[in-house]
Amino acid sequence: MLGVGFFIPYFFDLAFVKSAFLHFLAALGLLAAPAAAQSHRPFVSRDSLTKQGYTLVFINKDSALAPVTKQRMTDAFFQVYPQEAKRFNPKTLRKVTFFVNPAYDGVAATDNGLVDYNPKWLRDHPEDIDVVTHEVMHIVQAYPNDSAPGWLTEGIADYARYVYGINNKAGKWALPDYKAGQSYTNSYRIMARFLVWLDQHGHPKLVNELDAAARTRTYTPSIWQQKTGKTLDELWAAYAAQPAVRLTYR
Ligand SMILES: [Zn+2]
Repeated sequence: MLGVGFFIPYFFDLAFVKSAFLHFLAALGLLAAPAAAQSHRPFVSRDSLTKQGYTLVFINKDSALAPVTKQRMTDAFFQVYPQEAKRFNPKTLRKVTFFVNPAYDGVAATDNGLVDYNPKWLRDHPEDIDVVTHEVMHIVQAYPNDSAPGWLTEGIADYARYVYGINNKAGKWALPDYKAGQSYTNSYRIMARFLVWLDQHGHPKLVNELDAAARTRTYTPSIWQQKTGKTLDELWAAYAAQPAVRLTYR
């Protein structure tokens, strides 16, 4: 008992002495300066904003990014992400990071709560605000690796961009008319238009069902028949025969 009573305060004292000694060395300039004090600046700006339970961290490494673009991307996040979350995955991440990254040369990409944006794309396409709507849908999707075909994942993200987008009209983004030779494997907008058609032709819950299956690793090609009574290829053939849809854009 005595030993324990002696040991614990002694251990704390040691930690305290070590900490005091390090502060002493730092005061003498004998330790390396913290990273933030080094000459290169690690970012141009880093802001964090929380609204109604959702937090957006916005890291910008592009000194030329227009403030209005940053504001519009932020507004789009807070307008769109909660809607996508509510419909598809209320347990989605509460905290998301946007990274305007001059080192990234695609349009945008999302990985586990972090969205990379190419500042050159944003500069050249200032009305393409709903790139945010597409990318944050990938966060809501949160599909485990290989749980769904890529054309379904991207088709659902563009479906969400169509349904929840706030600036598609000004961004001149639209679902392309059906053309012979298209396939659902064309992914993105071509798949998204097919999903809208399914919505309007007796299957308004199907996108939710496909999305939930992908997230829970229960997606299989037979799900189309289970949920609609027709195989995917039969559904596509019906779409190709009568592809008209009613479309409206914001
Ligand atoms: Zn995507």
